[in-house]
Amino acid sequence: MEKKKGKIVSSVDEDNAIPYEKWIVSFADTRKSKIRIYFREFFAQGFYEAYDTVMTYAEKQNLDVRWFKEKRNCGNIFSQFEITKLESFCTYCNRKFNDQDPVPCHNDDCNSMFCSRNCMNDHIMLLHNSNI
Ligand SMILES: [Zn+2]
Ligand SMILES: [Zn+2]
Repeated sequence: MEKKKGKIVSSVDEDNAIPYEKWIVSFADTRKSKIRIYFREFFAQGFYEAYDTVMTYAEKQNLDVRWFKEKRNCGNIFSQFEITKLESFCTYCNRKFNDQDPVPCHNDDCNSMFCSRNCMNDHIMLLHNSNI
């Protein structure tokens, strides 16, 4: 048996001990008379990072957090459909956005996501050399 040299793995060593997990958070928007519930998906390394992410977002967006948990503990309902990422990154203008659903590239072979149709159009002209 070979021992890992000079490496002590303890519960304190969080960087190595906690893997990145997909989490799901459920928010309630209670600002209007009709309560809106929605879900967002994000990656976090352990509970505390997830908590931080969720709370920061909720504060920024003025939302109530209903719950958040690891996606694998959420049952089958959530694996059946795609959930919007908590914070999306526009491939074209590099803007972080989270107030709307991302616009996916029209090109089937491209995984790019955009904050708006304008960004997608520009990206398509630039990268895929075509008009839509
Ligand atoms: Zn953009
Ligand atoms: Zn594209």
